[in-house]
Amino acid sequence: MAFMSAYIEPVSGFWVMTDDGFTELYRDDEEICPNCGENWSVSMDGEQCSNCGAEVEDEFEGFVGGLSASGYMDQSDPVYGETKAEVAQEMLDMYFDQPEDEMDEDELADMEWLEGIAAGNE
Ligand SMILES: [Zn+2]
Repeated sequence: MAFMSAYIEPVSGFWVMTDDGFTELYRDDEEICPNCGENWSVSMDGEQCSNCGAEVEDEFEGFVGGLSASGYMDQSDPVYGETKAEVAQEMLDMYFDQPEDEMDEDELADMEWLEGIAAGNE
């Protein structure tokens, strides 16, 4: 049975270059530096984390999606996109490419939900 369920939600923030050379999102609603994990209030472009010095690259406003398990910290890597449909399509490609007869009811329901969004019905 599927204990992971799909979600897509609006998100805004800033792309930040981490020490590992990855670009990760600083989320306005979390205010956590994606590089050092400390609180970091950013309000404008060009700032850097006062703790670790990680720099803001770009502003981002769009959607984030993924699979989450309620009650668990377990989460898939987030998928970002400028539109809800874009995120839904990417999630379908990443997580729902197995044959339908190998999916359970919850997974099929999630897949249909995502397909509707990807088709622009929401
Ligand atoms: Zn930091």
